[in-house]
Amino acid sequence: MPPPRPESMLKSINPATLETVGQVPVTPPEAVGAIVASAQAAFPAWRHAGLKTRVAVLERARQLLLERSERFGRMITEEMGRPFAESMVMEMEASVDLLGYYTRKAPDFLGDRRVPLHNVFFKRRKSYIHFSPLGVLGVIAPWNWPVLIPLGFIAPGLLAGNAIVFKHSELTPLVAEELRRLFLDAGVPEAVFQTVHGGGEVGAALVDAKTERIFFTGSTEVGAKVMAHASRSLKKAVLELGGSDPAIVCDDADIDNASSGIVWGAFNNCGQNCNSVERVIVDASVAGRFMEAVVEKTKRLRLGDGMDPATDVGPLASEAQLKKTEAIVRTAQSRGGRLLCGGRRPAGMKGYFYEPTVIEWSRSNPAPADEELFAPVLYVTPSVGDGDAVRLANASCFGLAASVWTTDRRRGERIGREIESGTVMINDAIVSFGIAEAGWTGVKKSGVGWVHGEKGLDEMVNIQYVHSEPQLRTQKFWWFPYSGRMVRGMKAGMTFLFDRNMFRKITVLPAVLKHFTGYLLMNRRRKDKM
Ligand code: NAD
Repeated sequence: MPPPRPESMLKSINPATLETVGQVPVTPPEAVGAIVASAQAAFPAWRHAGLKTRVAVLERARQLLLERSERFGRMITEEMGRPFAESMVMEMEASVDLLGYYTRKAPDFLGDRRVPLHNVFFKRRKSYIHFSPLGVLGVIAPWNWPVLIPLGFIAPGLLAGNAIVFKHSELTPLVAEELRRLFLDAGVPEAVFQTVHGGGEVGAALVDAKTERIFFTGSTEVGAKVMAHASRSLKKAVLELGGSDPAIVCDDADIDNASSGIVWGAFNNCGQNCNSVERVIVDASVAGRFMEAVVEKTKRLRLGDGMDPATDVGPLASEAQLKKTEAIVRTAQSRGGRLLCGGRRPAGMKGYFYEPTVIEWSRSNPAPADEELFAPVLYVTPSVGDGDAVRLANASCFGLAASVWTTDRRRGERIGREIESGTVMINDAIVSFGIAEAGWTGVKKSGVGWVHGEKGLDEMVNIQYVHSEPQLRTQKFWWFPYSGRMVRGMKAGMTFLFDRNMFRKITVLPAVLKHFTGYLLMNRRRKDKM
C-alpha cells in the first residue's frame, strides 16, 4: 500500500512547545459509511458473546488502563497541555475507576427487571424489562478530558453489547489510537471498536451514517447541528454541551476555603472544563475579602509546560483557544468588566499560554451569562442575599453545573436545589464528573440525556418491555366481537374495582359475577371442544 499523502495526515501538536507529537491518517468522510457497516457486521457476534465474556474483556481493559496510566497521562499532557499531575490525579484515576464501576455493576444494570402488575386483569402475567444492545453507536468527543469523556460512553456501550465507531477531537487523535489499542489488546474484536479521524466533516459523516445513536460531547453550537442532522433520520442524539457555571459564595462562607476551591475550579485544566467555575456570585458583605483572596491566589499560580511537576496551569490547547480567550477578555473590558489580574500572554513563553484572569462586574452590570468562557477567565459579581444570588445564577441559557459555598450545609443544599443545573455541589466544584455513579447531564442549552451511572448506561440500550401471558389458549374478553353486554360488564367491573362507595360496589357485584362467569364458561367450552 502506498504511504498516506502528507495532506491526509492529522498532526497532533504539543501546545506547550508547538512541536509535533505524532500524526494519524485522516479518515475521508466518504469512507465513514463503510466503517460503520463493518462495525454493524461485527455487532451480532459481540452481542451474542454474552455479558460474562464482555465483562471479562472490559475487566482486562481496566487492568491494562491501570498499567498504561502513565503513558496515557503523558499523552494527554503532550496533546492538549493539562499538567501531568492533573492528567494522573484527575483523569486517569477517574477513568480506571469508571471501568471498574461498570464491569462490577453491568450484571445488575443489564439483568432482566421485574415490573409487578397491580391491575387484576393482568396480575398473573409475567412482566419485566429486558435490556438489549442497540447496534452501532457513534461517539464524538472533545479534547478537554480526552480519556475520561470518551470512556464514559465506550465502556458501558461495549459492555451492553454494542459496537462503537469513535471520532475523537482533531486535537487528540493519538489518545484515540491509544484507546483503540487498549481495547484491542483486552480482547474487543477489531471491528467492534473502531476509530475515525478528522474534523467536523468526519463527525457529520458519522452522524449521517447508519449509526443507531449518537453520543456527542462538545459545544452547544455544534451539538445543535448534530441534533438537526440526527433528527433527519429520527436518530436519538445524547448531547453533553457547554456551560456557564455559577458559584454562589454566601455571607457565611469560609473565605479561605471558598477562594482556594474556586480558584482551582476556575483554572484547573487552564479553565477548559465544561464545568469550570465561570461566574462567581459573592454576597456583597464578604465580596471585598473574597476578591482579595482570589486575586492573591490566582497570581500565585505557576504557568508552564505540563510535564514540569512544578506547573499548576498549562497552556491553552490550541491557537484557536488562545485567540478566543484574548477576545473574551477584550470584550469583557469593553462591556464594563474590571480586570483584577491576568489579561495577557506571559512574556517569553513559546506555547499557547495565557495568564489566569479575574474580572470584576457590578450589581448594575453583572457578568454576561449566555456565553461560555471555557478559558482561564473568572468573572466575579456581587449579590445581596440568597434570592438575588440564585436569580443571577439562573439568568443564563446554560444549566450544566453549579456550586454553593457556605458553612451551613443545609442552607447550601437549599440554595443548590433552586439552581437550574444538571449538577450542584456544595463546597466543591468539578469533581462530581469523575464520580462514576453520579450521573451527568445538563438542562437548558447544556445538554440532552445522560452519561455515567446507571442512567448513562440506559442511554445505550433498548429498554424493552416483555409481557408474557401464562394462559396460552384463553381468548381475552376485550378481543372481538364487541357487544353492549361487554360494555355493561366492564362498567360494573370498573365500579366494583374503583368506586370508593362500598354500597355501590356491593350493588354491582351480581352483574360483575354474571359477566365474568359467562366469560370464563365461554373459554372453558372452547377448550373442551379442542
Ligand atoms: P466542538 O463542539 O468544537 O467539537 C466537539 C467534537 O465534535 C469534536 O470531535 C469535533 O471534531 C466534532 N465536530 C465538529 N463539528 C461537527 C459536526 N458538524 N458534526 C459532528 N461532529 C462535529 O467542541 P470542542 O472545542 O472539542 O470542546 C469544547 C466544548 O465541549 C465546550 O463547549 C465544552 O463545554 C464542551 N464540553 C462539554 C462537556 C459536557 O459533559 N457537558 C464535557 C466536555 C466538554
